[in-house]
Amino acid sequence: MTTAQPSLTAPGAVAGSQDVQPTPLALLLLGREADPRSERGVECPGDLPSPSDPDLVERARLAKEKLGDKVFVLGHHYQRDEVIQFADVTGDSFKLAKDAAARPEAEYIVFCGVHFMAESADILTGDDQKVVLPDLAAGCSMADMATAEQVAECWDVLTEAGVAERTVPVSYMNSSADIKAFTGKHGGTICTSSNAKRALDWAFEQGEKVLFLPDQHLGRNTAVRDMGMSLDDCVVYNPHRPNGGLTTEQLRAAKMILWRGHCSVHGRFSLDSVNDVRERIPGVNVLVHPECKHEVVAAADYVGSTEYIIKALEAAPAGSKWAIGTELNLVRRLANRFAPEGKEIVFLDKTVCFCSTMNRIDLPHLVWALESLAEGNLVNRIQVDAETESFAKLALERMLALP
Ligand code: SF4
Repeated sequence: MTTAQPSLTAPGAVAGSQDVQPTPLALLLLGREADPRSERGVECPGDLPSPSDPDLVERARLAKEKLGDKVFVLGHHYQRDEVIQFADVTGDSFKLAKDAAARPEAEYIVFCGVHFMAESADILTGDDQKVVLPDLAAGCSMADMATAEQVAECWDVLTEAGVAERTVPVSYMNSSADIKAFTGKHGGTICTSSNAKRALDWAFEQGEKVLFLPDQHLGRNTAVRDMGMSLDDCVVYNPHRPNGGLTTEQLRAAKMILWRGHCSVHGRFSLDSVNDVRERIPGVNVLVHPECKHEVVAAADYVGSTEYIIKALEAAPAGSKWAIGTELNLVRRLANRFAPEGKEIVFLDKTVCFCSTMNRIDLPHLVWALESLAEGNLVNRIQVDAETESFAKLALERMLALP
């Protein structure tokens, strides 16, 4: 479960940050280009309806009605409103994958989210359930930052340094099926932003070090903020440098080996964003996601997953003011939802911060996918091969068994 674990302690003024490296591959913004090296998948083959078609909403409704119980539409929290309105269930990626598995009568799972989420849904659902991603180019820049080849090379480096056998991989849910399989194969577990501390507690019972993939910020924030480690206990493995840019001594001394990956959305929030909003809105509560940089988390009042953020705002008193550091579609939806209750909710940053790959799933792609399925054409199926699935499942099952 991705049950929120609200912690209402204000993070201490722990200083220190790691520069966010540029996304290695430019995000494919609106086109249909293919990028076969990327976790994001390949060109979307669809003959899409025009975005200006005034009948799109009705077409989606009719296609969904025609499919009936055969289709189950999952909507991630960061999806556009125009898509969310057709979701049978909303949530974070792990909750959605489990919701799909709990609906075995649904032959088609239409995942309105990004590629790694559809892979996880395929891993956790039955063999006769087919997972569809309405736009194959909807990837995740964070997941793209750790490829199977890079991670295998990293493991060789750890082996050379004599630390691999004492190292337990812990991979964030936001990773490709290949990385989850690597994790399962090497005795590790998956974690979400809600259970990262429990996953690390478990991992340190199995070994002396953790290789945390692919989000350095979630790894660092959990280690330092929740586990009492120091920033010096963490090193960053850069897959673009020989030996990860680390010496054997550094690898031997480190407790947390953090992969140099980050979320291109949450990585944009800065200490200035926090200081600015405190100046603009006196008395504001700053609530951020743990994918944010460490100095942002340290300066925030509250830190937690998307499910935590939603619960915190539900529980907030009328008249309270909140600045939220997570994806803009969700923040806007929450601001509209809670405005009638007198809760003022603003976006932490002054600039627009949609997840561009999440936003690829729009109404034309959803209509195209649903109408294709209703006509008996299975399109954009996401299918993980059997070997990858079995090791990835092992890692996911270890997460499910966490105390
Ligand atoms: S918000 Fe960040 S982690 Fe989530 S899909 Fe977008 S890029 Fe990936």
